[in-house]
Amino acid sequence: MSVLVVGSLAIDSIETPFGSAPRALGGSATYISAAASYFTNPIRLVGVVGGDFPKEGLRFLEERHVDLEGLEIVKEGKTFHWAGRYHYDLNVRDTLKTQLNVFEKFDPKIPPRYKNSTYVCLGNIDPVLQLRVLDQIEKPRVVICDTMNYWIEGKNKELLETLKRIDILILNESEARLLSKEPNLIKAARVIRGMGPRIVIVKKGEHGALLITESTVFSAPAYPMENIFDPTGAGDAFAGGFVGWLGRTDDISEENLKRAVIYGSALASFCVEKFGVDGLRDLTYLRIQDRFRSFRELSRFEEDYVASE
Ligand code: AMP
Repeated sequence: MSVLVVGSLAIDSIETPFGSAPRALGGSATYISAAASYFTNPIRLVGVVGGDFPKEGLRFLEERHVDLEGLEIVKEGKTFHWAGRYHYDLNVRDTLKTQLNVFEKFDPKIPPRYKNSTYVCLGNIDPVLQLRVLDQIEKPRVVICDTMNYWIEGKNKELLETLKRIDILILNESEARLLSKEPNLIKAARVIRGMGPRIVIVKKGEHGALLITESTVFSAPAYPMENIFDPTGAGDAFAGGFVGWLGRTDDISEENLKRAVIYGSALASFCVEKFGVDGLRDLTYLRIQDRFRSFRELSRFEEDYVASE
């Protein structure tokens, strides 16, 4: 099945307690398409970069068999730039800079052969751009959308328009509370479902993720990691693993959505093991399968207890 990914391609400056990278390859679309590419390819990518985007970044995507026909390169422009600093508690990060640069004037044009894409993943970008993409897609089976506090606060009205036209929203717990104005996550998801998406996935960092549909609440654990090097992109890698699995299987039954959440969690766990996109560089399907299986072991327990005399 064809998977279309739209989102940011970025030059990130990342600081964590364990090191820093002043010009790392990043962006929501970069992480999503790299993660999804382990399940199905080519992933169709739509985004924009400036003339300063490193050749190495293009090479990375090409090596992951990402289709770059939908990537616009504005030679005289500057690439989107994001800077973030993580606290000792890696669940907490401060955004130091968000420079939209070429995204300010970006008008996404979907190449004709992308228009029939079955699975569409709208990565974290301006909801106005997300809407313009949806206007050009013919009949997607599933539209998955990610967003963040920057847009929930800055473009709330536009985001509400986008939400009316999507099927699955992925967001983290603080964003879910911010969007719904409801502190309890189950109630928050209900409020958000009322805004349009029939399925809401709430990511809870190292505490896993909740998949909430009309009839189910599924709680997935996070993989317990001893060495988290850089959490940047974990949310996007999650979205990539999730949509990649759906694209591979073309099955949106509730049971398969649960599997997709676990594959998303597996890709997120690989992502944070290294700096920037390096954690998504040399994976194999076999390693991903292994980690998928170990997720099952994490919360498996016997139902019956027979007391010994
Ligand atoms: P995550 O850690 O999953 O939230 O994703 C981090 C990535 O999102 C970084 O590589 C950033 O370049 C990108 N990013 C951060 N803020 C924004 C924004 N406002 N719009 C689009 N992409 C962003």
